[in-house]
Amino acid sequence: MRIGIARLTAALGATAVTAALVVAGGTSAGAAPACTTTYQLNQWTGGFVAQVAVSNAGAALPSWTLTWTFAGDQRVVSGWNATVVQSGRTVSAAGTGALPTGGSAQFGFQATYSGTNATPADFALNGVRCNDDGVPPTTTTTTTTTTPVPPVDCPSGGVCDGFEDQTGVTPSGRWTVGSPNCSGTGTASVDSAVAHSGSKSVRVDGRAGYCNHVFVGTGLSGLPAGQPVFGRFWVRHTTALPEAHVTFLAMRDSADNGKDLRMGGQNRALQWNRESDDATLPEQSPAGVAQSAPLPLNTWTCVEFRVDGANGHLSTWVNGTAVAGLQVDGVPTADVDGQWLRRTGWRPAVTDLRLGWESYGSGDDTLWFDDVALATSRPGCSG
Ligand code: CA
Repeated sequence: MRIGIARLTAALGATAVTAALVVAGGTSAGAAPACTTTYQLNQWTGGFVAQVAVSNAGAALPSWTLTWTFAGDQRVVSGWNATVVQSGRTVSAAGTGALPTGGSAQFGFQATYSGTNATPADFALNGVRCNDDGVPPTTTTTTTTTTPVPPVDCPSGGVCDGFEDQTGVTPSGRWTVGSPNCSGTGTASVDSAVAHSGSKSVRVDGRAGYCNHVFVGTGLSGLPAGQPVFGRFWVRHTTALPEAHVTFLAMRDSADNGKDLRMGGQNRALQWNRESDDATLPEQSPAGVAQSAPLPLNTWTCVEFRVDGANGHLSTWVNGTAVAGLQVDGVPTADVDGQWLRRTGWRPAVTDLRLGWESYGSGDDTLWFDDVALATSRPGCSG
């Protein structure tokens, strides 16, 4: 009992000291701040992308939220690597995971503005002010003087990207390039010569063979959980979908042992494929394939999909028109969803979106992707 009391007293003492240090960091000139931020702006007339980094010099945080206030009329359009929500001039960015003492985190967002785009001066981490009082955060600003590119039309709360903020050849920011099996000759790069909107897109040089798989991927952490996921991307390509099975879109399904839900082609028409059991939608009979559609060549094509995890439904539109052979809607359809429905209780929970190329035997293609939208309502094809 006495030992227990002594330990409790020591613990309380340690807590009090920690609290005093935190207060001192927020109020005393010259004391180290509890957190510091950097704010990297890439702006053009009417819009900007900000890359934000926050470093935690205070106590370890099991979860974290960075808040700030815009001085002007900045409006967040979309965010990545954090859930960025704006209310009036106040913005909060909730990260995923913990932020240990000495740790740092990065996230970004795209926003619109008019007039002056001042750096926020009141960053706070879990309510504790960052940076020294009166000293603004480190800011670097790059102002683009070329023709401004309006933000892609984006559903409320959606994650949308036209790749216009990409500055290098390798996609970065919210995008990660991955070679899932073994690194071969397939490549994914930012292309400044071909675009659906603006001046940039992502180009995928897809090569046949298992080792040449390549994807550009982003997580879905910016979307609210528990709702259907809508996706939209514009794609153009140079080689007709082959007879053999190929994939140009993959989403990790955490409800299917992390296996991919894949969109691609087979028998020269679009199809969905479930990696875990190789089920195809539509069935690959002539009557099934006839209810799908080829992917048009050498022209930008708008592809939209809806993954409804709660009901196990899947919807697909090409240039705004539903494709009969690419629907799982709760009503069995001959030649279309027989393989798919053989597994009852399919309830996908997709956690990312990857665009690229994966062939399993033969099939080369060069593809461009642009104006990607991920949202909880249908994006449409105007963006
Ligand atoms: Ca673009």
